[in-house]
Amino acid sequence: MHHDTTTLARYVPDLTKDKVHVWLTKYHYTSNIILGVVLYAIGGLPWLLWGVFARVVVGLHSTWMVNSVTHVWGSRRFATKDLSTNNFLVAVLTFGEGWHNNHHAHPVSARHGLTWYEIDTNWYCIWALKKLGLARHVYKVELDHLPPKPPLVRDVQAAAVLAAAAGHD
Ligand SMILES: [Zn+2]
Repeated sequence: MHHDTTTLARYVPDLTKDKVHVWLTKYHYTSNIILGVVLYAIGGLPWLLWGVFARVVVGLHSTWMVNSVTHVWGSRRFATKDLSTNNFLVAVLTFGEGWHNNHHAHPVSARHGLTWYEIDTNWYCIWALKKLGLARHVYKVELDHLPPKPPLVRDVQAAAVLAAAAGHD
């Protein structure tokens, strides 16, 4: 959606009322330009290449691994009707987004890592913001117990059948 604040208003109406977030959405590239100028002034081309270009490439590939790798490799905790998986490596690279099967099963939960060993840095930051009073109305899925892991499937139709049986359709 890039800088399309009209479309964003449908999904995050509260953020479209926040002038700082609207400005960041419209002019998201300015921070990289300013940082690039500063890094080039301090350390020359190597600092610019590592601090802006390499960082952006790693960030983009890590982000897209959530939509590719975690639909192919990993384990499944919930029998969702898709092929989403939880992947430790992607979770570490994306600060917790790699617990993607958890996210598909509970899409509105701010917390994706559901156990102590599912490292979820994003959740730790949200939790800290909440404790500081800077984040409110944070939804976190509460489970009495983690369900037994369903069989690993490689077929969307089989996944849909298992999801329906588990009540995740
Ligand atoms: Zn997905």
